[in-house]
Amino acid sequence: MLIVMHHSATKKDVERIKGTIIRMGLKPVAIPGAERTAIGIIGNQGWIEDSPLRGQKGILEIIHVTKPYKLVSRDFHPADSVVKLGGKVKVGGKSPFLYIAGPCAVESREQIFRTARFLKKLGIPVLRGGAYKPRTSPHSFQGLREIGIDILDEVRQEVGILIATEVMSPEHVEMTAQKADILQIGARNMQNFDLLKEVGRINRPVILKRGLSATIEEWLSSAEYILLGGNAEVILCERGIRTFETATRNTSDLSVIPLVAESSHLPVIFDPSHATGKRSLVPPLSLAAAVVGSHGIMVEVHPEPEKALSDGPQSLHFREIEKLKEQVDAILAFMKTKVMQK
Ligand code: PEP
Ligand code: MN
Repeated sequence: MLIVMHHSATKKDVERIKGTIIRMGLKPVAIPGAERTAIGIIGNQGWIEDSPLRGQKGILEIIHVTKPYKLVSRDFHPADSVVKLGGKVKVGGKSPFLYIAGPCAVESREQIFRTARFLKKLGIPVLRGGAYKPRTSPHSFQGLREIGIDILDEVRQEVGILIATEVMSPEHVEMTAQKADILQIGARNMQNFDLLKEVGRINRPVILKRGLSATIEEWLSSAEYILLGGNAEVILCERGIRTFETATRNTSDLSVIPLVAESSHLPVIFDPSHATGKRSLVPPLSLAAAVVGSHGIMVEVHPEPEKALSDGPQSLHFREIEKLKEQVDAILAFMKTKVMQK
């Protein structure tokens, strides 16, 4: 439930209503806005009998929210959220389009340093790279794990680039958060609820990928776990879903980008690499994502994709990400001057 306060409501009114909510056995969350304050109620399992609140001074409106997620919804937080990455870089709202790029997996010091230096020169602020890899087959390369995290930490300090890396289990969250700027929850772990709770407790931005067969409601409910834990720095990432089609690795669901923006205030980015599985499709899908309002893209790039230990066929060469960035920047500039103002 959401209680919208009158713009003339005082702090005392807000406190009195919060007290009533607590006496009802529920938890109030004050949501200050530019014009007026709202009070969200969490902790209820169903319909709330609102008679103790009705008629109280200062209340403009009582809205019953029936969605399974509240903190991530625009009902609770109408304005776009802007997530800060490592102090300077921002994503969401009117922030510049965010580019995240890098290999699927951290394979060696040399591979990561070459990639980081190239991306830095290109003006891409975030390097991605998995140290803990969720692989379908146990026979596939499983990632360098702690060694990989240490390589990322080293490159972050030496090159001065932000690091995004995946965490797969709750016990690795704290250690990874000390060495990386952004934690990624992969598609396969979107409903690993203990992991969601653990990243909810830390003070680091989280990229939450959509599960392979997750509905939007399930995806946003997973984000709700992180916000409920106290971490509001969540970036949603669409990465394609599984359908009957096998010509592409996944089916790109670009409609979710404008759709999620209608119901949630969180930034949404797109991963064209896992969404297609095919290098040649990454540039056109990146352009499409920019056009439909994505706040950024996360792209797999490798110094030698032919030799990559994972996801080589969908990884771009350096010259290809350079060209892609030029094209996406051009589309964004065109949209800004010719489309968005109309
Ligand atoms: C990845 O980003 O390398 C990855 C494993 O992605 P996803 O979880 O979307 O499959
Ligand atoms: Mn990958």
